[in-house]
Amino acid sequence: MTTTHPSPLLSRSAGRTVLATAYGYPRQGRDRELKRGQERYWRGDTSIDELLTIATQVRAQRLETLTSAGLDELPVGDFSLYDHVLDTAWLVGAIPPRFDRAVPDADPASTHTAEGGWQRYFAMARGTGDEPPLEMTKWFDTNYHYLVPELSGSATFRLDPSKLLAEVAEAQRYGRPVRPVIVGPVTFLSLAKSVDGDDFDPLALLDRLLPVYAELLTQLADAGIAWVQLDEPIAVTDLSPAQLQYLARAYATLTAVERRPKILVGSYFGHLGEAAATLVDAGIDGLGVELTRDTASATVAELAVLPRLRELRVIAGLVDGRNVWRTDLAAALATGGTLLGLADQVDVAPSCSLLHVPHDASRENDLDPEVAAWLAFADQKLAEVVTLARGLSSGTEAIAAELEANQAVLAQRAASSITRNRAVRDRAAAVSADDLRRRSAYPERARRQHERLALPALPTTTIGSFPQTAEIRRARAAYRAGNLASEDYQAAMRTEIDRVIALQTEIGVDLLVHGEAERNDMVQYFAEQLDGIVTTEYGWVQSYGSRCVRPPIIAGDITRPAPMTVEWTSYAQSRTTRPMKGMLTGPVTMLAWSFVRDDLPVAETARQMALALRDEVNDLEAAGVAAIQVDEPALRETLPLRTGDRPDYLRWAVDAFRLSTAGVTDETQIHTHMCYAEFGDILQAIIELDADVISLEAARSRMEVVGELAEAGYPREVGPGVWDIHAPRVPSTEEILGSVRLACAQLPAQRIWINPDCGLKTRGYAEVEPALRHLVAAAQQLRTEM
Ligand code: GLN
Ligand code: ZN
Repeated sequence: MTTTHPSPLLSRSAGRTVLATAYGYPRQGRDRELKRGQERYWRGDTSIDELLTIATQVRAQRLETLTSAGLDELPVGDFSLYDHVLDTAWLVGAIPPRFDRAVPDADPASTHTAEGGWQRYFAMARGTGDEPPLEMTKWFDTNYHYLVPELSGSATFRLDPSKLLAEVAEAQRYGRPVRPVIVGPVTFLSLAKSVDGDDFDPLALLDRLLPVYAELLTQLADAGIAWVQLDEPIAVTDLSPAQLQYLARAYATLTAVERRPKILVGSYFGHLGEAAATLVDAGIDGLGVELTRDTASATVAELAVLPRLRELRVIAGLVDGRNVWRTDLAAALATGGTLLGLADQVDVAPSCSLLHVPHDASRENDLDPEVAAWLAFADQKLAEVVTLARGLSSGTEAIAAELEANQAVLAQRAASSITRNRAVRDRAAAVSADDLRRRSAYPERARRQHERLALPALPTTTIGSFPQTAEIRRARAAYRAGNLASEDYQAAMRTEIDRVIALQTEIGVDLLVHGEAERNDMVQYFAEQLDGIVTTEYGWVQSYGSRCVRPPIIAGDITRPAPMTVEWTSYAQSRTTRPMKGMLTGPVTMLAWSFVRDDLPVAETARQMALALRDEVNDLEAAGVAAIQVDEPALRETLPLRTGDRPDYLRWAVDAFRLSTAGVTDETQIHTHMCYAEFGDILQAIIELDADVISLEAARSRMEVVGELAEAGYPREVGPGVWDIHAPRVPSTEEILGSVRLACAQLPAQRIWINPDCGLKTRGYAEVEPALRHLVAAAQQLRTEM
């Protein structure tokens, strides 16, 4: 067994106490108690008091976990009944006037004292009958969604610290120092959306917002708080000179507040770049920095040149807060030791809030024990942080047993046949440029595909899923639980496929789908069938509000032991003479919505995933499927935060898609699908995917993307969504006609498809049926005009 190599700098820690802390912990409760409470309240089945009682219990559970794990300082304020950015908006009184009007009897003074306050809070999160909620978008490059604050030029702010102060008082009963963790003013304003047009930058409100933060600081000092953490993750993105100035101004102002706790600025999801010096020069008292694998060296280099750093408290984010693997403790100790050489007070924490990982890996009973030993969820990460703090305070001898056990796990993982499959590695290494190229250029492919498919002009299709009825869900659940025999399950799904085909045929859709009834989730469905990926029983992570997901865990080299969709798709094709579109989830999306390996570059994992999917694509083709759609809705959301990192990402992402799809003959039509509002920064990548047809979300942005594609010289076919499936309404034939005409004005009609924005699984047949009829009617009408 290898022995550990503590950094020589470790000796400097002698006599210095390194504290263990964290920025946040999962908030739904170990058994998602909060989720159930929220949903009961929203349905009107319980009172706000009952929900608040559950919330109090969940917070107590969290505080007990954090204290008994041995944290020296407790984070507080990260708990939320919906979302921490919404809580920040409430804290500073950034309540859009439209919600004052929607819930007029609310007591705006406090969320904690009046039910009306909560009604308004949840109205902002979920909307009311007439008032749509705040927009929701991804929190940096994670899979967590926050609510986007809305601000106009005339916005004013007003402090409502009731939630935070109550939680502070609650946490203080645990007898340890308590550190409130709050979204900082620059990040808050940077994430906000202007409701005064594009010319208004919410950051211009900084001077109006800072007094509210200043007042909060004083109230926290009065509550006995010694340290407050203001999170500025925006500082790990490329900041403009103006943004850097705002950052400098914000912290110069806040550090000048007379009665206040010490201010620690939290950063995560990357390294700080120039912002590190800006913040330190502004006079902050402490800095939380990300020091996990990818960013450690950049962060250390940035900190090493800061003259004032020695006077600061640095929280070293040494344990990856958003992935699920055990930390290499020896490596983390070495990094921690380096930091101890740079700053006089160094403490240890996970790199970001543990909100992004599940609670407890030891709860998983059905996992391969080999893989289970490699995992660290929130509770295991807390233990790692405490161990590291002890090792850095007292020297490695103090944690010799933990280090030895850790080394053994890491060595076992590195040598495992799960993480190293020779055949997979050899195949991936042998991928050549030819494997990424279709046989012929698009015009030749298009000619052959059109001949084979014989579709009319402006062909109609859907994105894949049809409504997931209660009946379908019941059948799937019963089959999983072993209460429905395999043949009966097959029969139920086939009946559903028949129904969906009959409906599409009767309505007159041109390129059919089988409806995806057998899929619980577009990523999990494939993850369960691929080797090298595990799925969990209790591995829930909050996605937004009460919604939780269980991301699959990519643990090893990926193989496809058997075809995954061929049976369903060929059954569907056998039931109709119209062409059927096969339906797969693309390699980038598979990775984006899973926990990825930290022992293999993600580009390598993408290549393995692509090879598994390539086999599936080729098998579908061999089974006679003439069109295959490979969905990549996540291509844009995993775009790196810093622009400098993007070309590399887009290169491997595009290559992975091409590797998945380029194995087919010219006659097979490759489709892809993406859904999000803005495509601007990935247009070139979209073109390079070389898919024959791409369907895109476009309804809400009024076909904007078609113009962008035209301008970028997009040479192939496109189906801009003409029906916003996120809204519970049916578009009229006229509306669809208008959209398609708009599209045809910008790209040749011969290259336009007519389809919805996204899959239909969340909609009901009451909307789907008429909407599809209108879609087909619009196509027919337009064809007569051609
Ligand atoms: N084929 C998938 C569906 O229709 C695509 C879903 C998505 O883009 N998120 O459900
Ligand atoms: Zn979609």
